[in-house]
Amino acid sequence: MRTPAIFFGHGNPMNAIEENAYTKVWRAIGESMPRPKAIVMISAHWYLPLTLVTAMEHPRTIHDFGGFPRELYEVQYPAAGDLQLAARLQTLLRADADHQWGLDHGTWSVLCHVFPNADVPVVQLSIDETQPPKFHYELGSRLAPLREEGILIIGSGNLVHNLHAYAWGRHPAEPFDWAVRFEKQAREMLLAGNDEPLIDYESLGRDAVLSVPTPDHYLPLMYVMGARSKDDRVSFPVEGIDGGSVSMLCVRFG
Ligand code: ZN
Repeated sequence: MRTPAIFFGHGNPMNAIEENAYTKVWRAIGESMPRPKAIVMISAHWYLPLTLVTAMEHPRTIHDFGGFPRELYEVQYPAAGDLQLAARLQTLLRADADHQWGLDHGTWSVLCHVFPNADVPVVQLSIDETQPPKFHYELGSRLAPLREEGILIIGSGNLVHNLHAYAWGRHPAEPFDWAVRFEKQAREMLLAGNDEPLIDYESLGRDAVLSVPTPDHYLPLMYVMGARSKDDRVSFPVEGIDGGSVSMLCVRFG
């Protein structure tokens, strides 16, 4: 059976220790599928000038943020790595092995709800910041066959991610009209399988530029879109725009 390919909007790191409307659905997503053999995770927060693959038996939990409550720094997500899968990804993606990183909050703030027992091995891929969206989409397409073997592909970022406009501490905030419009346009394209304009998102005009001021949180979606199969069902199990300018949209294929 084919595993899904899922893009999670991770939003505020505090989601890791909160129970809210988003995290409830994240939990339900984990419960909705047979336990995967392993996860290939593409997080917005490992953004480097090359593609690396975590290759360690016990990846550490990285608290890659500042100014949050102590409780968040105490979160541990002790999922194992998968050396065999890491070696395979190195060949498949022409990537190098990494022995330093681990699991950053783009990964664990979501997975601690999806698989709360941390019983599915996780391998993280870095995002090569020097490459255009098409490159990431193509890497995603090379990951697609892994889905036939029970390996779950997850991208973690945010479709709309503009922290300059984000209403810190003022919740709920009214979503910006450009955020609503861009999200709606993207959803229609995802439903229609119309990938090209989303790959070339900068050509979509002002709404896209405001929604994706930097590509880091957008590019994980490219991997998930690339890993899509033609006959996958498309669904959006989580919706909502947080703080006016961060889309929590979750995109599930299969
Ligand atoms: Zn983030």
